[in-house]
Amino acid sequence: MKEVVRAGHAGFCFGVKRAVDAIRGALERGDTNVWTIGLPIHNPQEVERLQAMGLKVAQSEEEVPAGARVFIRAHGESRAVLAALRDKGAEVVETTCPFVSRAQELASSLSEEGYHIVLLGDRNHPEIRGIIGHVNDAEDILDVVANEAEAEALPRRGKMALISQTTQREERLSAVAGALVRRAGELHVCNTICRATVERQEAVRALVGCVDGVVLIGGRASANTGKLRDIAAASGLDVLWVEDAGELDDSAGWFEGRKRIGIAAGASTPEWLINDISSKIASM
Ligand code: SF4
Repeated sequence: MKEVVRAGHAGFCFGVKRAVDAIRGALERGDTNVWTIGLPIHNPQEVERLQAMGLKVAQSEEEVPAGARVFIRAHGESRAVLAALRDKGAEVVETTCPFVSRAQELASSLSEEGYHIVLLGDRNHPEIRGIIGHVNDAEDILDVVANEAEAEALPRRGKMALISQTTQREERLSAVAGALVRRAGELHVCNTICRATVERQEAVRALVGCVDGVVLIGGRASANTGKLRDIAAASGLDVLWVEDAGELDDSAGWFEGRKRIGIAAGASTPEWLINDISSKIASM
């Protein structure tokens, strides 16, 4: 038997819960016309559940039929996608996380005020693509950087505004801001990292010294779960990253000699999955 120590903050954040609850609520009311563009969250197990209830997932707005009810993911969408959906007669249900909306609005308003926008984040992540899609002429007045080195390589500008993907680490935002101070006449830094992200990161650090290893639960495509893995590893914690309870069987060797097991989970990991995996570990 193992002792399980759950991180103080783990699992669904406010924004993901809000979007998933809206989708599930519509499906439970018998709505047969519920769509998302792309997977609604980076958690395959929860997506399977929603699809079994009738959720339809389109790969792009072009696949969405007229009359569809399209729930916008917590990551948000570009203005062009929202306009295309409305133009074809789809109903847009806005469930973008308010923290992401704030980043979109800041990028839009600061670019209109003449700031060159620097986005800190993963340029292939849907949240970043959605923020870019709220800036007119983004190809000329916006850069995406992944780290301090990329920020150092940007040309000097008169006015720059730094906006972060909501799931970035605060240390990295500070480092990039430090690099940009040397490249801008005027620098406007917006800390758009959301509290849920910071809380989950701090909760992982708080496990140091209390556990013999951490089982991290979350989808492999989840950016914030990946950050938790990096933080745990950098803090000296041994980490086992699993998506579902079945993966525990393949990792039985990892548990040998470990008595107290920490449980951490990304913001897109549902409560039922955390409970399933915690129970299985407790009985090992
Ligand atoms: S991680 Fe933060 S910004 Fe992203 S959906 Fe959750 S609450 Fe919103």
